[in-house]
Amino acid sequence: MLRRSRYNLSSQEAREKTLRRMELIEKKEKVFLTEPWQGYCDNEDHPLFSIKVTREKTFAACYYCSKLWILTDDKKD
Ligand SMILES: [Zn+2]
Repeated sequence: MLRRSRYNLSSQEAREKTLRRMELIEKKEKVFLTEPWQGYCDNEDHPLFSIKVTREKTFAACYYCSKLWILTDDKKD
């Protein structure tokens, strides 16, 4: 018996595929910082990518894996 082409997705399968992708995005790693920080993304699956978070630019995402660093200023002086 011939296998059906894997590119021949039914609309149901296509919907499930989209849903899985959205779940992946939802689960993306986030790092919350309380102070400005500069360094490299710690994901070793891709080339080094430098991350810089400052008071002026309070978030930065890795170009390769979209890991997100966010400066949260919840401390009140
Ligand atoms: Zn990364």
